[in-house]
Amino acid sequence: MHPIRFRDCFRSTRSLIAGLTAFAAVPASASALLAQGATPPAAATTPVATVPVDPRLEKLKAEALVMVESRAKQVQEIVDMLFSFQELGFQEFESQRYITTLLAKEGFAIEKGVAGIPSSWTAKWSNGTGKPEISLGSDVDGIPQASNKPGVGYRDPMVSGGPGHGEGHNSGQAVNIVAAIVVKQLMQRDKISGTLLLWPGIAEEQMAGKAFLVRSGLFKNTDVTLFTHVGNDLGVSWGASGSSALLSAEFRFRGSSAHAAGAPWSGKSALDAVMLMGQAWEYKREHLRLQQRSHYVIKDGGDQPNVVPSTASIWFYFREQDYPRTMALFEVGKKIAEGAAMMTDTKLDTIAILGSGWSAHFSKPIAEAMHANVQTVGMPKWDDKDQTLAKGIQKELGSPDFGLSEQVNKQLRGAETPQNWMGGGSDDIGDIAWNVPTITLRFPSNIPGLPGHNWANAISMATPIAHKGALAGAKVQALTMLDIMLTPKVVADAWDYFKNVQTKDTKYTPFIRPQDTPPTYLNADIMARYKTQLQKFYYDPTKFKTYLEQLGIEYPTVRAQVVAPKGDDGKEKQ
Ligand SMILES: [Zn+2]
Repeated sequence: MHPIRFRDCFRSTRSLIAGLTAFAAVPASASALLAQGATPPAAATTPVATVPVDPRLEKLKAEALVMVESRAKQVQEIVDMLFSFQELGFQEFESQRYITTLLAKEGFAIEKGVAGIPSSWTAKWSNGTGKPEISLGSDVDGIPQASNKPGVGYRDPMVSGGPGHGEGHNSGQAVNIVAAIVVKQLMQRDKISGTLLLWPGIAEEQMAGKAFLVRSGLFKNTDVTLFTHVGNDLGVSWGASGSSALLSAEFRFRGSSAHAAGAPWSGKSALDAVMLMGQAWEYKREHLRLQQRSHYVIKDGGDQPNVVPSTASIWFYFREQDYPRTMALFEVGKKIAEGAAMMTDTKLDTIAILGSGWSAHFSKPIAEAMHANVQTVGMPKWDDKDQTLAKGIQKELGSPDFGLSEQVNKQLRGAETPQNWMGGGSDDIGDIAWNVPTITLRFPSNIPGLPGHNWANAISMATPIAHKGALAGAKVQALTMLDIMLTPKVVADAWDYFKNVQTKDTKYTPFIRPQDTPPTYLNADIMARYKTQLQKFYYDPTKFKTYLEQLGIEYPTVRAQVVAPKGDDGKEKQ
């Protein structure tokens, strides 16, 4: 639910100034050497002289790069398959079936329905002592009404009104799965101890999965979590992330019905309470901190005009910098809701907490290890077709048409400062990051300069842009897993940072109350409405090399000339 891209674009300028870490001693890119047909380096120089490094590490990393590269076809299939399911939060059942079948075949132990979420799952594999345990997560849910043909640089839905991957969550599992399969093979062959735990971010758009995963104890043995999320660059950061903490709450009012024309004086409209709550929030907004973000939709506005609505509800996302500020915003909401009920002589029936998330804080030692691997792997090589699609959609939406980024950031991005913090999107990875050392790897499967949570953000997601971006991500993920497995100091440093820096003065308190359960009914109605239409478009890799081929789409398909930028609905901008 967070256009991380925005944050990244916004903050990248600042990070140029921040200048934090020097990994000057990174050996020449192993992938580049191997691509030129060179023999893998036997034992490259140790990057940091004082850290005891397993002598096998550099050779294993060079091997891992070759092994991940050899699975490019598998990355493409997973990315395309999940794209074709186009599932919304809590309804990711085709994705669950496909991924768990794949991982079971690879020898992972599967559990479904984790944390009371039917569409959730875990896949686990252990070797030797089982330590260290690395958890690998990535979101899997889509965006309502974001359906669009992939590879097409203008509005052209596959299923009109249907959901789609307008956030790119169809790509992250490919990164983790391929990295995990490769590292597992190396661990088995070389008898390396450790545990790999794969899991999905369910209903991330509702911020309604990860706090429940934490509460279920899923991460109680985890040493490090490597989360990954689609972006338009390859990179990682440490410290306060700059994302907003969030509380999602639905306020449900109850009144009494009456004939809206015959006896309106006998009715008490729950919709009146909802409208007044929204209106009051707009007045209150003037007196809130500029950094807050709050927005709402009316989930229940009654059934039909001639019946005074006896029930109505309004669903808010409250976002602020941290837990206490977000809770304070929620308290304002509660007070306004009570006032709205009083004014309309209705009852504030229920306040349902539907989701939540802490603002993430990422592990510095893990980010440093990963940043070195980002430098080794580098950005994918885009071709003219990739750049044509990127520039085509940028022009279509009236954004600067600079295409896709070609270079990784040389400098590791550090912590956001409270003074600079201006708020923005959220990700419930924050809840995990406050319980175990965690980072988010961004990989470049999307196009810069797009609105986020929009059909335009879906168009690259089953094209070579997404495939190459996820493959680069899988390489970084695999290399970092090997660093963690073979360098105990990385894990020790991560926990030292977690205990003595990150959580020194801030202790995790979940937003969710003991009585809150995952709202797994969300989106069931939308998916039921579109399921039959969506099924016709499920990807069949036994018949078609790529999803674009199955759909008969020429890549890329862009307007020959954009006369004037088109808006979101494909009409001329006013
Ligand atoms: Zn996301």
